[in-house]
Amino acid sequence: MSSIDFTHVSYAQRVVFGTGQAARHLCAEVGRIGAQRVMVITGSTGGAAAERLTSGLDVVHWWRGVQPHVPAEQAETARRAAAASGADVLVSVGGGSAVGLAKAVALTTGLPVVAVPTTYAGSEATPVWGITETARKTTGTDPRVLPAAVIYDAELTLGLPVELTVASGLNSLAHCVDSLWAPRANPLNALHATEGMRALARGLRAVAADPLGLPGREQCLYGTYLAAAAFAAAGSGLHHKICHVLGGRYDLPHAQTHAVVLPHVLAHQMSAFPSAGEAVAQALNGGESERGAVDGLTALVRLRAELGGPVALRDHGLRFTDLAEATELVMDAVTALGAPRPGRDDVRRILEGAWSGVIPA
Ligand code: NAD
Repeated sequence: MSSIDFTHVSYAQRVVFGTGQAARHLCAEVGRIGAQRVMVITGSTGGAAAERLTSGLDVVHWWRGVQPHVPAEQAETARRAAAASGADVLVSVGGGSAVGLAKAVALTTGLPVVAVPTTYAGSEATPVWGITETARKTTGTDPRVLPAAVIYDAELTLGLPVELTVASGLNSLAHCVDSLWAPRANPLNALHATEGMRALARGLRAVAADPLGLPGREQCLYGTYLAAAAFAAAGSGLHHKICHVLGGRYDLPHAQTHAVVLPHVLAHQMSAFPSAGEAVAQALNGGESERGAVDGLTALVRLRAELGGPVALRDHGLRFTDLAEATELVMDAVTALGAPRPGRDDVRRILEGAWSGVIPA
């Protein structure tokens, strides 16, 4: 009997890499779609870059200053603005929050999105949307929200401070790790994930050593795309279920939450998914000699410590008294996962560890 037995979905989008070439690539991709009236969606820090990148395009509406986690009211206002302006394409310039708002508009209008990412969140390469209403984040998958084209340009991430780069890069690493046991995990997305982890580890170490060096930033973006492709194909696993609850309910910063929670989830999953632990070890031990190589969890914890990544959710606004409610919300969220599902005590242990910042064993 064959042991090769899986179904894989690849998502169709154009992915264009080129350092220093985003403006040219953006014009070309908008032209390729046949669009002429651009609505630009950008965060508070992306405005200058967005103006430069879109100077050759007909911008009919500027949306500046996106809020994290796509509040439903913001999505509604942006949809109305898109309709009133007659835009025929949405161009997001910014991190996951800018892409997230563009996706929310695309979800109901069907407008195509061209994404120009400036962080390592990876939302640009997934058909997953998320909207937050009354402190609950609802997510869904819809091919209409997958950007038609993604333009990666490492120069646009040079301004991302090292601290945020590390958190954002670890968020991307979480896409890789979670995809190793997520509902639709398969050997093809494991390939993407493993190469993504290698590139991210290489890139983050290089950025920490030289924040203005382009090679490290390029590796981070390359890893980001691979990570997002793995996540898009595999779906949300335990790690993402936990982080969505935390982000939506307690308004925690997205990248930092992922960076803190990941080792605790990996510690929990290692016995049920030993091959995932091996893949993480293989990718993160990198150039270390066999004698220096360590298991996946230790390699991840060491990498985060080496980079000075965030370790405790109590430093980011979560209160100890929130943990009881968070445990119940996560228990609801994980019912959608296949076996083995964590029990209430497991969830509480993961959350308490992530809250306190203890090193998971
Ligand atoms: P973000 O977009 O909110 O950006 C974080 C901060 O960095 C913001 O203050 C922003 O202004 C700033 N910033 C962005 N680019 C910068 C740059 N180049 N230089 C300096 N500052 C810069 O956060 P994020 O972590 O990129 O994205 C988080 C959001 O993305 C969350 O809502 C999350 O749910 C979503 N997300 C969705 C998916 C998906 O597949 N749907 C995947 C990952 C993340």
